[in-house]
Amino acid sequence: MAGHGLMWSNIYQPEKPHMKRRVDWKRMGALFAPYWRQQTTVLACIVVVSGLGLVPGFVTANIIDSAIPRRDVAALGVDVGIILVSALFAAGVGVLQGYLNSVVGEGIMRDLRTSLVGHLHRMPLQFFTGTKTGEIMNRVSNDVDNVDNVVTGTLTTIVTNIVLIVTTLIAMFVWNWRLALLSVVIVPLMIFPLGPVGRRMYSIRRQTREKRDEVESITQETLSISGITLIKSFAREAFERARFYKVGTGLMQLEIDLAMVGRWFLASVTAMVVVGPALIWFGGGWLAISASLKVGVIVAFVSFVQGRLYGSAATLAGIQVQIVSALAVFERIFEYLDMKTEEYDPPGAIVLPNVSGDIAFENVVFSYDGVRDVLNGVSFHVRPGEVAAFVGPSGAGKTTITQLVPRFYDPQSGRVMIDGHDVRTVTLTSLRDNIGIVTQETYLFHDTIANNLRYGKPDATDAQLRAVTRSANIADFIAALPDGFETVVGERGHKLSGGERQRLAIARVLLKDPRILILDEATSSLDYENEAAIQDALEVVMQGRTSLVIAHRLSTVLRADVIFVVEDGRIVESGRHATLLARGGLYSRLYRTQFRDLSA
Ligand code: ATP
Repeated sequence: MAGHGLMWSNIYQPEKPHMKRRVDWKRMGALFAPYWRQQTTVLACIVVVSGLGLVPGFVTANIIDSAIPRRDVAALGVDVGIILVSALFAAGVGVLQGYLNSVVGEGIMRDLRTSLVGHLHRMPLQFFTGTKTGEIMNRVSNDVDNVDNVVTGTLTTIVTNIVLIVTTLIAMFVWNWRLALLSVVIVPLMIFPLGPVGRRMYSIRRQTREKRDEVESITQETLSISGITLIKSFAREAFERARFYKVGTGLMQLEIDLAMVGRWFLASVTAMVVVGPALIWFGGGWLAISASLKVGVIVAFVSFVQGRLYGSAATLAGIQVQIVSALAVFERIFEYLDMKTEEYDPPGAIVLPNVSGDIAFENVVFSYDGVRDVLNGVSFHVRPGEVAAFVGPSGAGKTTITQLVPRFYDPQSGRVMIDGHDVRTVTLTSLRDNIGIVTQETYLFHDTIANNLRYGKPDATDAQLRAVTRSANIADFIAALPDGFETVVGERGHKLSGGERQRLAIARVLLKDPRILILDEATSSLDYENEAAIQDALEVVMQGRTSLVIAHRLSTVLRADVIFVVEDGRIVESGRHATLLARGGLYSRLYRTQFRDLSA
């Protein structure tokens, strides 16, 4: 497990080299498996429709060679009737086929998207800090959408055309083998030039998808609330527009290239489709003159090759292009699905029993990138119920220390222990169930206050909600809102002030009632009232829990049972406020610069 950090940072390079992989047919098959009933019915529909498609050809021959020469109006009527009925019936079957196709396509998309999102939720934090959000979004939305095209488009196209070709060939060879032979000689000529075109299309499509990732990333970054605030505050709108235009132009060029390759492909196929029937008219006409081939048969053959054989052969030859692009889509999705998630239940992991909240770090060394050690052998011990304050210069590693407790990251060496258990030997869920975290960056979902509070305890009663909001000093604020607990807080809670958000986050943690609390005190100064309200709320939330606090307030360090002074990834001093102050080391300097001001 050690070395997670190293592994992720190595894998998630922004520009990944294209990996050549073997196509995993079995895996793709597994996606279709739940829908085999619908698929089988679709197959049956295809066979029926393509069988019915032969009817007009035969009947036309009959009209030309029999009904008209015999001047038999009744037979003519019957023939035309057959053509109409078979066409109508085929249309009906086609509707059914379309419906089932949608069921399969949409179903597979839902399944894939769910497993993709579920998988992503279990990915380590490192993955998200190292990957652009837009890229992730693009895979979850656009790539999965493309799967629908593959399933309802490509797959059906392949089967339909194979069935069309086989039925047509059988009918033609049984009917007149000489004319049939003449019809098929031209087919290989059509298929031959399509290989290189397909490869070119594949490469363009791959580039297109990467460009789309980029477009999505920029959109995502610039249109998020934090992003747009940044743009506005630096007045960089024009720059961002230009950046977007540039990427957009790249995408446009690729799309044009793709369309052009497609055009060339089509042009060559069209040429073939013209040559074929000409050949049949010549050969068939000669047979009609020299032997006794009937004209109706020639007409039927021409309609077969034009309507069914050549079109299908060309589509099928070109489908290679679609297949490779489709495979690329699956490849990209599988690539994400193959990434290693956090191990929620490592082999032999135990469910953390009733936690008392004893926390110990034993010589912990940690690095995010595998190059620079951010923690260089951190050891400390916090007893159950104690408040431990971490202080130190910016970038010293305080936040990193607290993130190792819930296993957002794992150390390269050393151990993080809770109640004597190495955190790597317990199930992640039981570990995190016992830890509550309140950070400076409070995140709230775009949902009601009640639902946000219930996030960690879905079955909390209304009375419990009221109790925790009172403790967190936010009850009066909520009561004053027209919709009370049903107020929607806005994207990320941006409709609330920073202090209100933080108090809601405190209430949310109180509701969860964890034994261990990790608290990152806000550095931003709040007004006096907010500050006092939060301070009181924090007092309540720390009671009876082991608390690791990244301290920025004098009151916190004064009441802490132990203060750890962190510098360059090491704990350089520890003890209570008075002792540390008397020592005259880093703490006393920090105290003078960081804490005195706030207390004033
Ligand atoms: P502050 O008081 O400014 O919040 P801190 O003491 O909490 O600082 P940390 O956030 O733990 O410091 O960061 C310690 C070091 O690790 C910093 O040098 C930082 O640049 C680096 N770091 C933090 N997060 C990551 C990350 N996700 N990937 C790579 N490096 C990181």
